[in-house]
Amino acid sequence: MAQKSLDFTLDKYRELCRVLKENYTVFTVSEYLLEKPRENVAVMRHDVDRKIKNSLDMAKQEHESGIRSSYYFRYPQTFKPDIIRKIRNLGHEIGYHYEVLSKTNGDFSKAIILFQAELEEFRKICPVDTICMHGSPLSKYNNRDLWKKYDYHSYGIRGEAFLSFEQDHDDIRYLTDTGRTWSNTQTLRDVMKTKPGSNTPVILDSTDDLISWISLIPEKKLYVTVHPERWASNPGEWILWSFLDFGMNIGKKILRWRYS
Ligand SMILES: [Zn+2]
Repeated sequence: MAQKSLDFTLDKYRELCRVLKENYTVFTVSEYLLEKPRENVAVMRHDVDRKIKNSLDMAKQEHESGIRSSYYFRYPQTFKPDIIRKIRNLGHEIGYHYEVLSKTNGDFSKAIILFQAELEEFRKICPVDTICMHGSPLSKYNNRDLWKKYDYHSYGIRGEAFLSFEQDHDDIRYLTDTGRTWSNTQTLRDVMKTKPGSNTPVILDSTDDLISWISLIPEKKLYVTVHPERWASNPGEWILWSFLDFGMNIGKKILRWRYS
Protein backbone atom coordinates (compact mmCIF):
# COMPACT_ATOMS: atom_id res chain seq x y z
CA MET A 1 0.00 0.00 0.00
CA ALA A 2 2.89 2.34 0.77
CA GLN A 3 4.14 2.11 -2.80
CA LYS A 4 0.70 2.33 -4.35
CA SER A 5 -0.24 5.34 -2.21
CA LEU A 6 2.21 7.29 -4.37
CA ASP A 7 0.56 5.99 -7.48
CA PHE A 8 -2.52 7.39 -9.24
CA THR A 9 -1.66 10.95 -8.34
CA LEU A 10 -1.43 13.93 -10.69
CA ASP A 11 2.36 13.90 -10.28
CA LYS A 12 2.44 10.31 -11.48
CA TYR A 13 0.11 11.25 -14.32
CA ARG A 14 2.58 13.93 -15.45
CA GLU A 15 5.25 11.20 -15.76
CA LEU A 16 2.86 9.04 -17.78
CA CYS A 17 2.09 11.95 -20.13
CA ARG A 18 5.80 12.56 -20.64
CA VAL A 19 6.57 8.97 -21.60
CA LEU A 20 3.54 8.79 -23.88
CA LYS A 21 4.56 11.98 -25.63
CA GLU A 22 8.13 10.67 -26.05
CA ASN A 23 7.05 7.37 -27.60
CA TYR A 24 3.85 8.15 -29.48
CA THR A 25 1.83 10.65 -31.41
CA VAL A 26 -1.18 11.05 -29.11
CA PHE A 27 -4.63 11.29 -30.72
CA THR A 28 -8.12 12.03 -29.52
CA VAL A 29 -10.70 9.35 -30.32
CA SER A 30 -12.24 11.50 -33.05
CA GLU A 31 -8.87 12.31 -34.66
CA TYR A 32 -7.86 8.65 -34.61
CA LEU A 33 -11.07 7.52 -36.33
CA LEU A 34 -10.70 10.26 -38.94
CA GLU A 35 -6.99 9.94 -39.69
CA LYS A 36 -6.55 6.16 -39.18
CA PRO A 37 -2.86 6.38 -38.21
CA ARG A 38 -0.86 3.17 -38.61
CA GLU A 39 1.82 3.05 -35.93
CA ASN A 40 3.42 4.76 -32.96
CA VAL A 41 0.06 6.13 -31.97
CA ALA A 42 -1.70 6.37 -28.64
CA VAL A 43 -5.35 7.23 -28.13
CA MET A 44 -6.18 8.92 -24.82
CA ARG A 45 -9.71 8.71 -23.45
CA HIS A 46 -11.22 9.93 -20.17
CA ASP A 47 -14.53 8.78 -18.75
CA VAL A 48 -15.66 11.53 -16.39
CA ASP A 49 -17.97 9.57 -14.11
CA ARG A 50 -17.84 11.93 -11.12
CA LYS A 51 -15.65 14.63 -9.48
CA ILE A 52 -15.53 16.80 -12.58
CA LYS A 53 -12.95 19.17 -11.07
CA ASN A 54 -10.32 16.39 -11.39
CA SER A 55 -10.93 16.28 -15.13
CA LEU A 56 -10.02 19.97 -15.48
CA ASP A 57 -6.80 19.41 -13.49
CA MET A 58 -5.93 16.48 -15.75
CA ALA A 59 -6.78 18.44 -18.90
CA LYS A 60 -4.43 21.24 -17.79
CA GLN A 61 -1.70 18.70 -17.06
CA GLU A 62 -2.04 17.20 -20.53
CA HIS A 63 -2.03 20.64 -22.11
CA GLU A 64 1.26 21.43 -20.37
CA SER A 65 2.62 18.10 -21.65
CA GLY A 66 1.57 18.87 -25.22
CA ILE A 67 -1.12 16.17 -25.32
CA ARG A 68 -4.72 16.41 -26.53
CA SER A 69 -7.22 13.75 -25.49
CA SER A 70 -10.95 12.93 -25.36
CA TYR A 71 -13.18 13.65 -22.34
CA TYR A 72 -16.58 11.94 -22.08
CA PHE A 73 -19.12 13.48 -19.71
CA ARG A 74 -22.28 12.00 -18.24
CA TYR A 75 -25.61 13.80 -18.25
CA PRO A 76 -26.45 15.26 -15.82
CA GLN A 77 -23.88 13.91 -13.29
CA THR A 78 -20.81 15.56 -14.81
CA PHE A 79 -22.51 17.98 -17.18
CA LYS A 80 -20.97 21.30 -16.12
CA PRO A 81 -20.85 23.61 -19.16
CA ASP A 82 -18.29 26.04 -17.71
CA ILE A 83 -15.76 23.25 -17.00
CA ILE A 84 -16.52 21.47 -20.28
CA ARG A 85 -15.88 24.76 -22.12
CA LYS A 86 -12.54 25.22 -20.32
CA ILE A 87 -11.42 21.69 -21.23
CA ARG A 88 -12.46 22.24 -24.84
CA ASN A 89 -10.52 25.52 -24.91
CA LEU A 90 -7.39 23.60 -23.91
CA GLY A 91 -7.72 21.77 -27.24
CA HIS A 92 -9.29 18.53 -26.00
CA GLU A 93 -12.19 16.64 -27.54
CA ILE A 94 -15.54 16.64 -25.74
CA GLY A 95 -17.75 13.56 -26.04
CA TYR A 96 -20.99 12.24 -24.60
CA HIS A 97 -20.77 9.39 -22.03
CA TYR A 98 -24.22 7.91 -22.56
CA GLU A 99 -26.10 5.48 -20.34
CA VAL A 100 -29.62 5.74 -21.78
CA LEU A 101 -30.47 2.03 -21.80
CA SER A 102 -29.70 1.85 -18.08
CA LYS A 103 -31.75 5.00 -17.44
CA THR A 104 -34.79 3.65 -19.32
CA ASN A 105 -34.57 0.10 -17.94
CA GLY A 106 -33.82 -1.36 -21.35
CA ASP A 107 -36.62 0.41 -23.28
CA PHE A 108 -34.94 0.98 -26.66
CA SER A 109 -37.55 3.45 -28.00
CA LYS A 110 -37.34 5.69 -24.94
CA ALA A 111 -33.56 5.29 -24.82
CA ILE A 112 -32.95 6.62 -28.34
CA ILE A 113 -35.18 9.65 -27.71
CA LEU A 114 -33.27 10.36 -24.50
CA PHE A 115 -29.99 9.89 -26.36
CA GLN A 116 -30.91 12.59 -28.87
CA ALA A 117 -32.10 14.99 -26.16
CA GLU A 118 -28.96 14.62 -24.03
CA LEU A 119 -26.66 14.81 -27.07
CA GLU A 120 -28.38 18.07 -28.00
CA GLU A 121 -27.52 19.53 -24.58
CA PHE A 122 -23.83 18.82 -25.19
CA ARG A 123 -24.00 20.30 -28.68
CA LYS A 124 -25.26 23.57 -27.21
CA ILE A 125 -21.76 23.87 -25.69
CA CYS A 126 -19.52 22.56 -28.49
CA PRO A 127 -19.46 20.13 -31.42
CA VAL A 128 -19.67 16.46 -30.41
CA ASP A 129 -18.90 13.72 -32.92
CA THR A 130 -17.93 10.74 -30.79
CA ILE A 131 -19.70 8.97 -27.93
CA CYS A 132 -18.70 6.42 -25.30
CA MET A 133 -20.94 4.13 -23.28
CA HIS A 134 -20.93 4.38 -19.49
CA GLY A 135 -20.52 0.84 -18.22
CA SER A 136 -22.23 1.00 -14.86
CA PRO A 137 -21.30 -2.18 -12.99
CA LEU A 138 -24.55 -1.90 -11.02
CA SER A 139 -26.84 -1.93 -14.07
CA LYS A 140 -27.83 -5.13 -15.85
CA TYR A 141 -28.10 -3.24 -19.17
CA ASN A 142 -25.18 -2.86 -21.55
CA ASN A 143 -25.60 0.62 -23.01
CA ARG A 144 -23.74 -0.37 -26.20
CA ASP A 145 -26.64 -2.67 -27.10
CA LEU A 146 -28.56 0.43 -28.23
CA TRP A 147 -26.57 0.24 -31.49
CA LYS A 148 -27.81 -3.26 -32.26
CA LYS A 149 -31.10 -1.57 -33.11
CA TYR A 150 -30.06 1.98 -34.15
CA ASP A 151 -27.16 3.54 -36.06
CA TYR A 152 -25.28 6.33 -34.30
CA HIS A 153 -24.12 7.71 -37.66
CA SER A 154 -27.72 8.89 -38.15
CA TYR A 155 -27.15 11.36 -35.31
CA GLY A 156 -23.99 12.91 -36.75
CA ILE A 157 -21.72 10.67 -34.68
CA ARG A 158 -18.45 9.52 -36.25
CA GLY A 159 -17.72 6.77 -33.78
CA GLU A 160 -18.31 5.02 -30.48
CA ALA A 161 -15.25 4.75 -28.26
CA PHE A 162 -15.54 0.94 -27.92
CA LEU A 163 -17.52 -0.26 -30.94
CA SER A 164 -15.65 1.68 -33.64
CA PHE A 165 -12.36 0.16 -32.49
CA GLU A 166 -13.72 -3.36 -32.11
CA GLN A 167 -15.22 -3.17 -35.61
CA ASP A 168 -12.54 -1.32 -37.60
CA HIS A 169 -9.42 -0.73 -35.49
CA ASP A 170 -8.93 -3.82 -33.34
CA ASP A 171 -5.14 -3.95 -33.80
CA ILE A 172 -4.69 -1.80 -30.72
CA ARG A 173 -3.67 -2.52 -27.12
CA TYR A 174 -6.42 -1.40 -24.74
CA LEU A 175 -5.45 -0.38 -21.20
CA THR A 176 -7.65 1.09 -18.50
CA ASP A 177 -7.07 2.25 -14.93
CA THR A 178 -10.23 0.55 -13.65
CA GLY A 179 -9.61 -0.78 -10.16
CA ARG A 180 -6.44 1.39 -9.97
CA THR A 181 -4.32 -1.15 -11.76
CA TRP A 182 -3.46 -1.44 -15.47
CA SER A 183 -3.68 -5.25 -15.57
CA ASN A 184 -7.38 -5.28 -16.51
CA THR A 185 -8.42 -8.02 -14.12
CA GLN A 186 -11.08 -6.02 -12.28
CA THR A 187 -13.25 -4.86 -15.16
CA LEU A 188 -16.80 -5.99 -15.82
CA ARG A 189 -17.80 -3.73 -18.75
CA ASP A 190 -14.70 -1.64 -19.47
CA VAL A 191 -13.39 -4.28 -21.83
CA MET A 192 -12.55 -4.00 -25.51
CA LYS A 193 -12.43 -6.99 -27.83
CA THR A 194 -9.22 -6.55 -29.80
CA LYS A 195 -7.53 -9.01 -32.09
CA PRO A 196 -5.14 -11.71 -30.83
CA GLY A 197 -1.65 -10.29 -30.48
CA SER A 198 -3.02 -6.95 -29.28
CA ASN A 199 -4.56 -8.46 -26.19
CA THR A 200 -1.92 -10.82 -24.83
CA PRO A 201 -1.99 -10.34 -21.04
CA VAL A 202 0.55 -8.00 -19.48
CA ILE A 203 1.06 -7.55 -15.76
CA LEU A 204 1.08 -3.83 -15.10
CA ASP A 205 0.10 -3.36 -11.48
CA SER A 206 1.31 0.20 -11.07
CA THR A 207 1.70 3.26 -13.27
CA ASP A 208 5.47 2.87 -12.83
CA ASP A 209 5.11 -0.59 -14.42
CA LEU A 210 3.18 0.99 -17.29
CA ILE A 211 5.75 3.75 -17.76
CA SER A 212 8.63 1.23 -17.88
CA TRP A 213 6.70 -1.02 -20.24
CA ILE A 214 5.97 1.85 -22.65
CA SER A 215 9.62 2.94 -22.57
CA LEU A 216 11.02 -0.56 -23.13
CA ILE A 217 8.52 -2.18 -25.49
CA PRO A 218 6.37 0.46 -27.15
CA GLU A 219 3.33 -1.13 -28.81
CA LYS A 220 2.53 0.07 -32.31
CA LYS A 221 -0.89 1.24 -31.16
CA LEU A 222 -2.01 1.93 -27.64
CA TYR A 223 -5.40 3.02 -26.30
CA VAL A 224 -5.30 4.36 -22.74
CA THR A 225 -8.44 5.04 -20.72
CA VAL A 226 -8.10 7.14 -17.58
CA HIS A 227 -10.86 7.98 -15.08
CA PRO A 228 -9.84 11.39 -13.67
CA GLU A 229 -11.70 10.88 -10.38
CA ARG A 230 -9.44 7.91 -9.61
CA TRP A 231 -6.31 10.06 -9.54
CA ALA A 232 -5.77 11.56 -6.10
CA SER A 233 -4.24 14.90 -5.28
CA ASN A 234 -2.63 13.41 -2.12
CA PRO A 235 -1.84 9.96 -0.62
CA GLY A 236 -4.52 10.30 2.08
CA GLU A 237 -7.17 10.57 -0.59
CA TRP A 238 -5.72 7.48 -2.25
CA ILE A 239 -6.00 5.40 0.95
CA LEU A 240 -9.67 6.33 1.37
CA TRP A 241 -10.43 5.43 -2.25
CA SER A 242 -8.53 2.16 -2.07
CA PHE A 243 -11.06 0.98 0.53
CA LEU A 244 -13.94 2.07 -1.73
CA ASP A 245 -12.39 0.25 -4.70
CA PHE A 246 -12.00 -2.88 -2.60
CA GLY A 247 -15.74 -2.86 -1.83
CA MET A 248 -16.63 -2.15 -5.47
CA ASN A 249 -14.49 -5.03 -6.73
CA ILE A 250 -16.19 -7.46 -4.37
CA GLY A 251 -19.55 -6.20 -5.74
CA LYS A 252 -18.38 -6.77 -9.32
CA LYS A 253 -17.35 -10.34 -8.50
CA ILE A 254 -20.86 -10.99 -7.18
CA LEU A 255 -22.42 -9.48 -10.36
CA ARG A 256 -20.09 -11.46 -12.61
CA TRP A 257 -21.22 -14.62 -10.86
CA ARG A 258 -24.90 -13.56 -11.11
CA TYR A 259 -24.82 -12.76 -14.86
CA SER A 260 -22.51 -15.60 -15.90
ZN1 LIG B 1 -18.31 5.78 -17.07
